[in-house]
Amino acid sequence: MARIVGGIALSHTPTIGFALDHQKQNDPVWAPIFKDFITVRNWLKEKKPDAIIWMCNDHITSFFFDHYSPYVIALNDQYFPADEGGGPRKVPPVAGHTKLAQHLGFSLVADEFDMSFSQGKTLDHGVYSPLSMLQDPQDGSMAPIVHMQMGVLQFPVPSPQRFFKLGQAIRRAVESYPEDLNVVICAAGGLSHQVHGERCGFNNTEWDMQFLDLLEKDPQTLTQYTLADYARLGGFEGSEVIIWLAMRAALSEQVTKLHQTYYLPSMTAIATVIYENHGTLPPAEKIAEHTAHMNHQLQGADQIPGTYPFTLERSVKSFRINSFLHKLIDPDYRKRFLEDEEGLFRESDLTEEEKDLIRRRDWRGMMHYGAIFFMLEKLAAVVGVSNLHVYAAMRGQTLDDFMKTRNAPTALYSVAAKDDKGPAWEKDPKEK
Ligand code: FE
Repeated sequence: MARIVGGIALSHTPTIGFALDHQKQNDPVWAPIFKDFITVRNWLKEKKPDAIIWMCNDHITSFFFDHYSPYVIALNDQYFPADEGGGPRKVPPVAGHTKLAQHLGFSLVADEFDMSFSQGKTLDHGVYSPLSMLQDPQDGSMAPIVHMQMGVLQFPVPSPQRFFKLGQAIRRAVESYPEDLNVVICAAGGLSHQVHGERCGFNNTEWDMQFLDLLEKDPQTLTQYTLADYARLGGFEGSEVIIWLAMRAALSEQVTKLHQTYYLPSMTAIATVIYENHGTLPPAEKIAEHTAHMNHQLQGADQIPGTYPFTLERSVKSFRINSFLHKLIDPDYRKRFLEDEEGLFRESDLTEEEKDLIRRRDWRGMMHYGAIFFMLEKLAAVVGVSNLHVYAAMRGQTLDDFMKTRNAPTALYSVAAKDDKGPAWEKDPKEK
């Protein structure tokens, strides 16, 4: 079973990444940042965690307002730094622990946290500013991470109490993971700062100290403050520090604070904190109970004949082929697909098996492989066949035989927009 060995809390101001990239180790203005982070890096080196659950907020880089959600688990097996406007930082990628991410997803949703899931997103300074300080300076190595993006920049935002409960649920999730892993929980953000409006530049060291003290000894009290209280006390963007409540709640009530530093060189108070966790693992029957609770909703679904639940595991496996097919909603891309399919394949990251499935319009094979039906109906619309053609192929029947099973045996349709010349499958093949 996995266990949480400790928690770390880190500010994530871009200042930290800037100091590293500009090699300011020996500059007295920047040197304290290096000293503080090296302590955390050394602690991680000593603890050798198998995974770090890294909670923080993105800064509207990879998670934009076209779809903004409070709690996101990233399923990546590798993460790269984001381009935040001036090109991505030249820092090594970090591995992702996809299996733990999937497990967290199932456990948290079972515990009634309505998570969303991402794949392929890059990481902005919310992760990479502190993370790059923790990577081995020689080879860039560090423990794989599970990135959890917390949407705290567009209201409504979940309450501090909800963040605390999320942390407790993360603990249940980790402790029910079926393999022996040592896990560190990391929260990045804060401390006091405000970066917008006439109040920008606001800091409150007294509150930061009080917050750090309560976080260690009485985190429940911090759940009673409102988001407006956090904004008033620690600056508006400083309220991202509520993410730290989730980290703290994932640890036991009693922790040992091994390290705490605080440095305020410019706009954001930079803190680094390490907590050692003391909790004992729950008894085996409790873990078994939670595992059953996690799996309850899908129990038996995989036994339904001809049915393939689109789980996180399936989604990760088929992400490449689903991405390729999803781009067909772009008119220029589908024009290119129809004119030069092989050229598009060469530019893609598809495997030969995936290219072959698409090339042969092997609807059944693509579905077995993991392509979700709704990508198949897009491809069908592009290549001019109806949904019913796809259904028949998935069942291994001719179109005529399948249509005989319908109440309206002549009703063919697709998701393609109306064409003045009529549906594509009614056209003369030469016209297609
Ligand atoms: Fe931030």
